[in-house]
Amino acid sequence: MPSTYDTPVFPGPVHAHWQATAASKGFDLIARIRDRYHLQLRCQTCSGSFTAKLFTLMRHQPLCPHCLAARRSAVANAAGITFLGPDPDRRGYGRFRAPCGHVLARQFELIDRIAKGATGLRCETCHNAREAAEARRFGWERLGYCPSGRPNYRLYRHHCGHVQRIAQANMLWGQCDCAGCGQGWNAKPSFLYLLRIVLPAGANRPTRHYLKLGYSAHPVKRHRHQLGLARDAQVELMRVLAMASGHLACRAEQAAHRRLTSAHPEAVVPATELAGAMNVVREIYRPMLLPMIEAELDRIAAEADRTSG
Ligand SMILES: [Zn+2]
Ligand SMILES: [Zn+2]
Ligand SMILES: [Zn+2]
Repeated sequence: MPSTYDTPVFPGPVHAHWQATAASKGFDLIARIRDRYHLQLRCQTCSGSFTAKLFTLMRHQPLCPHCLAARRSAVANAAGITFLGPDPDRRGYGRFRAPCGHVLARQFELIDRIAKGATGLRCETCHNAREAAEARRFGWERLGYCPSGRPNYRLYRHHCGHVQRIAQANMLWGQCDCAGCGQGWNAKPSFLYLLRIVLPAGANRPTRHYLKLGYSAHPVKRHRHQLGLARDAQVELMRVLAMASGHLACRAEQAAHRRLTSAHPEAVVPATELAGAMNVVREIYRPMLLPMIEAELDRIAAEADRTSG
């Protein structure tokens, strides 16, 4: 039999009980290939063929790589991204193209959770670019992560030339006096902020993830207190956008909420679901809305930069 495959057919008997086992597991045994340990199988579901070990066929359930890729693509599409293939370097990880165009390596398990709406996806390249853009608005150039390795610190260069490390949360809120020239950032702005809130699982509730997009005239640093969150809630500051005035910030925030709620009503968390967990029950969104909220904030930032010249 001439081989239609790259790998040569292995000369040797194809036993009837191998064929029966293959059929019972959803495959046609096409040929023995490469050496005495390998078989070429055809999937009865998708008609795709692949190489499997004889041992795997006889002892386990072989996985059709074509069906697996199709399942992973479907999950990725539901999560709003494109599956490119398994990560060659890490088991359990795939490579995906995010809506921004960047390629991200993520665990398949995480993509499952995103597809189910339990969490959101963030591109670190875009995120770092946004951190840098925000710092520029306060007169600082983001040089990179802090050489000390402390995860919450970044290295920045002030426009006077002085380089210093600054806690990321302080930079986000514009609280960064320069030790070189003594200048702070004197504007009295207001802020749009985005928080990720995680409420731990309760007696008969799973862990709950939410996004809160808000507006404040002051840094929101004591989240729990300021938002009336339960003591065991976890809060992560995802993004801050400084606006030139409270009026601008408030107007931009309300316009963003109008657009988000009319375009994605299914992502607005009903107040009843939040009763008892937090005082703030308006403008809370499901985590899958993260990319849309980021895009909304990008638009607001671009608009603010354009009008401020
Ligand atoms: Zn298949
Ligand atoms: Zn990106
Ligand atoms: Zn300075």
